[in-house]
Amino acid sequence: MSTAAAGPEIERLISLLARLPGLGPRSARRAALFLIKKRDQIMAPLATAIQTALEKIEVCRVCGNIDTQNPCTVCTDVRRDPAVIVAVADVADLWALERARAINARYHVLGGTLSPLDGIGPQDLSIDALVSRAHDPAVTEVILALNATVDGQTTAHYITDLLHDANVKVTRLAHGVPVGGELDYLDEGTLAAAIRQRTTF
Ligand code: ZN
Repeated sequence: MSTAAAGPEIERLISLLARLPGLGPRSARRAALFLIKKRDQIMAPLATAIQTALEKIEVCRVCGNIDTQNPCTVCTDVRRDPAVIVAVADVADLWALERARAINARYHVLGGTLSPLDGIGPQDLSIDALVSRAHDPAVTEVILALNATVDGQTTAHYITDLLHDANVKVTRLAHGVPVGGELDYLDEGTLAAAIRQRTTF
């Protein structure tokens, strides 16, 4: 019979923490203990931050980003190029591109990629909204920043077909050698793609 070392409130805290990505039961227990020890410095501000996020966070009605204002900070930023929309599968991808300061454009979060095996079809993704945004005369390019996986590329092809009638250039991310990468360590698929998509020096 398993025994609990702490009361039900603390056990509940641990079991909720254990559901966070990257945290297993052991690290959840450590995190809970850390929070309890740092009750004033960490736990209280964290609880307030979670409560505030719970009350204020919304999904942007234009692009699908997550923010405390709607339309989101990205969509309302007048310094961004309104001519370019970067389509991403997930908010995490949008945030990654923003962290990299990769491009000063607008975004469109699809909410996933097409995956027949998982039963995810076009109607489950925000594809119609992207196509309608692409028909705005101010938009000249749609960048499909999707994963270099079968599902990601299937989705890219599907969207490219739908954007045929829109007056936009459709581009996708380059595949190839990562920055700082050594050729000897790359898989054959990546190397072959890098050779196919070579650029002029
Ligand atoms: Zn937005």
